[in-house]
Amino acid sequence: MENKTKGELLQEELLLKAENATNKLSDEELKKAYDFCEPYKKFMDAAKIENEAVRVTIEMLEAHGYKAFEPGKKYMPGEKFYSNNRGRALIFGTMGKRPIEQGVKILASHIDSPRLDLKQRPLYEESELALLKTHYYGGVRRYQWAARPLALHGDMYKKDGSVVHVTIGEDENDPVFIVSDLLPHLAKDQNQRTLKDGLKGEEMNVVIGSQVFKDDKASQKVKLNILRLLNEKYGVVEGDFLSAELTCVPAVKAKDVGLDRSLLGAYGHDDRVCAYTSLMAELDYNKDPDWTSVVVFADKEEVGSDSNTGLNSAFMEYFIADLAAPYNVPVRTVLSNSKCLSADVSAAFDPTFPDVFEKRNTSFLNYGVCIVKYTGSGGKGGTNDCYAKFAGDVRRVMDNANVIWQTGELGKVDQGGGGTVAKFISALNVDVIDIGVPVMAMHAPFEVVAKTDVYMTYRAFYEFLKAEL
Ligand code: MN
Ligand code: MN
Repeated sequence: MENKTKGELLQEELLLKAENATNKLSDEELKKAYDFCEPYKKFMDAAKIENEAVRVTIEMLEAHGYKAFEPGKKYMPGEKFYSNNRGRALIFGTMGKRPIEQGVKILASHIDSPRLDLKQRPLYEESELALLKTHYYGGVRRYQWAARPLALHGDMYKKDGSVVHVTIGEDENDPVFIVSDLLPHLAKDQNQRTLKDGLKGEEMNVVIGSQVFKDDKASQKVKLNILRLLNEKYGVVEGDFLSAELTCVPAVKAKDVGLDRSLLGAYGHDDRVCAYTSLMAELDYNKDPDWTSVVVFADKEEVGSDSNTGLNSAFMEYFIADLAAPYNVPVRTVLSNSKCLSADVSAAFDPTFPDVFEKRNTSFLNYGVCIVKYTGSGGKGGTNDCYAKFAGDVRRVMDNANVIWQTGELGKVDQGGGGTVAKFISALNVDVIDIGVPVMAMHAPFEVVAKTDVYMTYRAFYEFLKAEL
């Protein structure tokens, strides 16, 4: 062994160390991390929109003994519950042994992702093509969505109150849909537009058919034929679009990326990768829990968390109030003693676009779960800035459990930025810090994560639920 110099020893003692997880982990641990991602792919394929994520998760929860929450019931340690908010958001967890006035552990992620929502009168015919008008949802870079296969998902409520679940474009034999784009030969004017307006909002029209319904008298016969097909398959009429939530998402399955299969591509890692990892952490935690766990799958994060299924509403607070009421504990006491991980993705450094990142304070693929002390933009506007003690507590928990973690800020100061659900939960006087999986090509139709980071995020959530905090 070579003797270390004074400087080398001092370095070891004083400096932060970072190491690529694919190097740091043993072969066995690496395999565990990669294996962890196999069922995650299936979850992603089955849960492309929030309604589906809620349905798939409830199926899993019920298989693990979770029961629909009953307000007024006094939950005993070990009892598992879930509360479905309008089929679009979900809260679930397990009652712990600790008195509820000491607070609960909250893991909050979101299950909505950017996409193309249909308008309420979407279907029209133009030049003997049937098309759908859309209103994009969330931070969509519109040009990325053209000329690629799209699937149609969602729920339609009929006049009689019954509902049909629509999924077209996911099965191998299903047709798909498309937003068209210009050929380069005729794109002279379009090429002068800024990238942002390469395709404008009202140009995001989805082609859904071209065959004429054979009849001499009827008009709009391509549209009519599409309505006929929808009616045959789902029993719906045009008016049912008004009471529908239909959306176009990329018709793409989750797939390994890279010859070494170290990366994972899918639509909507943001933020179902944090939803899935928190679900897995909860399912492992629920055996004999000390703390009460409250796992939240929120809707509407991508549009600012507004609406009654987003976290800028009282649904989580009301739920915790209901959980605490039979113990005669006011909800403010529970919340004020509660700890929360705002589980959301961060932007991974991209060597193709280094200029937007500040390399010393950004997250890297394969460097573990990313802890973000503060969010916001333009001088931390709209931030949740976690106070240092809680940041330190979370760091200690991660270190003690050998969870590989890093820190990261969303790009350079004044380059942009963004927020999460954290600020709505900290507004309830809960200790909250942001944490999640680094993502490359965030909000694109096919986003990329590193498998080791997914696994470390799951481990981080599990250790958080278990930890003395
Ligand atoms: Mn997110
Ligand atoms: Mn997002």
